[in-house]
Amino acid sequence: MLMQAARPLGELENPTEFIPRHIGISEADEARMLSVIGEASRRALIEGIVPRSIARASEMKLPPAVGEAAALEELQAIASRNRVLRSFIGQGYHGTHTPKVILRNILENPAWYTAYTPYQAEISQGRMEALVNFQTLVCDLTGMPIANASMLDEATAAAEAMTLARRSVKAKGNTFIVSGECHPQTIEVIHTRAAPLGITVKVIRSSEEWIEAIQGDDYFAALNQYPGTSGWLADWTESAKAIHAKQAAFILAADLLALVLLKTPGEMGADIVVGTTQRFGMPMGAGGPHAAYMACRDEYKRSMPGRLVGVSVDSHGNPAYRLALQTREQHIRREKATSNICTAQVLPAVVASMYAVYHGPQGLRRIAQRVAAYTAVLAAGLEQLGVKRLHDTAFDTLTLDLGSAEAADAVHLRAQAAGMNLRRMHWANGRCVGISLDETSTRADIEALWRVFAAEGQALPGFERFEKGIEPRIPAELRRSSEFLTHPVFNSHHSETGMLRYIRALSDKDLALDRSMIPLGSCTMKLNATSEMIPITWPGFADVHPFAPPEQLAGYAELDRQLRAWLCEATGYAGVSLQPNAGSQGEYAGLLAIKAWHESRGEGHRKVCLIPSSAHGTNPASAQMVGMQVVVTACDEMGNVDLADLEAKCQAHSDKLAAVMITYPSTHGVFETQVKALCEIVHRHGGRVYVDGANMNALVGVAAPGEFGGDVSHLNLHKTFCIPHGGGGPGVGPVCVVEDLVPFLPGHATGGRTGHAVGAVSAAPLGNAAVLPISWMYCRMMGAEGLRQATEVAILSANYISARLRDHYPTLYASGNGHVAHECILDLRPLKETSGVTAEDVAKRLIDYGFHAPTLSFPVAGTLMVEPTESETLEEIDRFIAAMIAIREEIRRVERGEWPQDDNPLKHAPHTAASLMTDGWSHAYPREAGAAVLDERRHAKYWPPVGRVDNVYGDRNLFCSCVPVSAYA
Ligand SMILES: *Cc1c(COP(=O)(O)O)cnc(C)c1O
Repeated sequence: MLMQAARPLGELENPTEFIPRHIGISEADEARMLSVIGEASRRALIEGIVPRSIARASEMKLPPAVGEAAALEELQAIASRNRVLRSFIGQGYHGTHTPKVILRNILENPAWYTAYTPYQAEISQGRMEALVNFQTLVCDLTGMPIANASMLDEATAAAEAMTLARRSVKAKGNTFIVSGECHPQTIEVIHTRAAPLGITVKVIRSSEEWIEAIQGDDYFAALNQYPGTSGWLADWTESAKAIHAKQAAFILAADLLALVLLKTPGEMGADIVVGTTQRFGMPMGAGGPHAAYMACRDEYKRSMPGRLVGVSVDSHGNPAYRLALQTREQHIRREKATSNICTAQVLPAVVASMYAVYHGPQGLRRIAQRVAAYTAVLAAGLEQLGVKRLHDTAFDTLTLDLGSAEAADAVHLRAQAAGMNLRRMHWANGRCVGISLDETSTRADIEALWRVFAAEGQALPGFERFEKGIEPRIPAELRRSSEFLTHPVFNSHHSETGMLRYIRALSDKDLALDRSMIPLGSCTMKLNATSEMIPITWPGFADVHPFAPPEQLAGYAELDRQLRAWLCEATGYAGVSLQPNAGSQGEYAGLLAIKAWHESRGEGHRKVCLIPSSAHGTNPASAQMVGMQVVVTACDEMGNVDLADLEAKCQAHSDKLAAVMITYPSTHGVFETQVKALCEIVHRHGGRVYVDGANMNALVGVAAPGEFGGDVSHLNLHKTFCIPHGGGGPGVGPVCVVEDLVPFLPGHATGGRTGHAVGAVSAAPLGNAAVLPISWMYCRMMGAEGLRQATEVAILSANYISARLRDHYPTLYASGNGHVAHECILDLRPLKETSGVTAEDVAKRLIDYGFHAPTLSFPVAGTLMVEPTESETLEEIDRFIAAMIAIREEIRRVERGEWPQDDNPLKHAPHTAASLMTDGWSHAYPREAGAAVLDERRHAKYWPPVGRVDNVYGDRNLFCSCVPVSAYA
């Protein structure tokens, strides 16, 4: 036996144990990779890549890294500072039971949460089926013909409905009518969104005022809520008619659970319906993430924001899902896109859809009926106690008029002492108190609520007299008569065994990070460590209402404070807001800050935003939303921003220049050496520099945009800081700014953050609050040293891939010494000429080899952009390289004429198992070649469930609901 010398305790208590778990490359690997690249050390490599002029002056000041157990313990202490009370606040956030089979097998399952947005249709059939279920759920409950695959939250969905209406209606008015029955956070976000577009928002405070307003000629759309924020139920059919007579649009924000029992918005004549699906199984999480929804009339579908999953056919003629109408989106339409939404809320949408699959129409009816019945019982008891109510009708919400603000305050205090939060209504001088019941409400809750309202010595109502049943407070004419969720998928998987297998069957169709590398340039698909994920479902974070009294949210306040301080260190900026719930929303918030700053100096006429042609599509789309005028600047043949052109355009627009938006390192994967000079030019002309921070994975610990001249950046915590992509969301897009822009970060009056120059950009003050613990854990376990190491290894791995593939696929852009940043663009364009093979063919062929394709045709058409990240092992990177080289050999056979250009394994990729098992084999290449099994993968072959999906067919025959079973016959 080998005797070991005693080691100092300090060495054994290694505080950085997580770092080598996160980083996939060992020291021995690193030496091998450096020799391939031809560099002596990682330090030398990085110094040769990161321009000296921008290198960080000092290390980031973060607390020293701790291991997984210690970090979890520390975070638990923070979570415990949130006080979890029973919530009856409502206002768009309700208690819900996440079915445990969904909690564990979707929300906590990497097969679902580590997937990417379903751009590669063939490896995304499982999650797209779930999203089609979501769309069908929304269509059925709202009574509308078409729904998209999720919006960011209810408030931003309402704002998007406003602009969709404006694009779509004939009415020429400039006013948007908003009922005071909408949630206050919705009204607040609408104000923020309307102002830069020059839209006048008219908020209505009474029914009479509403009726008068919709008779007017000055508006293009009107928004109401159903049931109203106070619980009011009304039939909007006559309003819809009046609004249509003015050729304007009627938008209704509606609660999906209420719609189970209510006449549908579609039947009332709504043109657009929005809302949240939170109470379909997603915890409140202090405001998010939840999937909001949008449904609209058929005529609007091509103008609708957000992603839409459609049904098409594959190369064998079988039904197959794909993202439909992509041409509406920002990466194609730029500033003319229908919205800037990129990352949405796919994982929460999948949870909501599965909640409906799990309960089915019968189960949902029971849940809704119980909520409505309990609400009626609660109301009857309160009547007995002599409490005055605002409305006779109700689904789940009662608004009580207590006569004075003092009486209301006293009730809140008594409720809190009994462990319950009621809603503080913002109207009627604080006299009113709101109560919303939900799926989790119990008899004990109702009795406790009665006790809160009973006067000293007053006899309490009892449940006995309601045992035989009670009529819900829903007027007869508003009761739902139409069927919903009749498709078999909502009527089949009601046993837990069935449900478990359905979920598993769908995830088995997909490729996520739990099976293979996802080398997507710009998207940074890195490890989402389990320790980072564990806290998000802790009750201390999950069961908190975003508008609970601030003293109950001390844990979230601490999380917010610490994470913002760390992100300031990482970026070199002075202030951060975590409110934006995707990168696109961070862009929007950042541009709003720039705009508000110019206005504060009397320079509101500065509206020109320069954006290089290589920019991500969300950049111009966001600029358009703040009313800026986009001017495109050129890139030179090296892929860099053409400084001469930029300077000329700054000159030309000098007195109108608001901002320049660049991405750094550039979307071409290169550290441009003149970035400091660029910032100086922009500043000289009075503009501000927006640095898109999606590529922060090449910068953290190495260079900081706030130090080298940036004024504003957004980060994508779902890229650089380990929040998983969830199949297309949730995300978090913090907006970070320099000192003089701090006053212009988003506020949130509804959430108590008053006195800000810029209003709310999200429904909740902390946006997708419940996923912030993921990034907190990452920073806490990595520390400054680990984060810098991650950046350096990400750069090392990208350069290794670029070097290894040089003779097969040249890298398009590199810096002077031939190096790239953290990603590399492989140029496949010449292959078209020599073999007829396109980048798309290679992307599809990679599926046969078991890989998700790199980013296809962004930022350069006909190329693949590869980003390995620091988390991949050398073994996996080499496997990817081997697949790419094997594919290149296949292309060489086509080039040599051994295989025809139209009949080779690339053109027919991906190959399903069924297509390889046909009796006769009629292709010019052998069956074996089609299967593309690299030796070491013989036993772990991924089989795509469908052949190549036909995009054109899908858009020509747009169909976005569950596929009738007969289609599979
Ligand atoms: C991902 C990305 C965005 C958009 O971020 P979302 O979170 O998807 O809205 C913007 N710019 C660049 C360069 C990106 O890669």
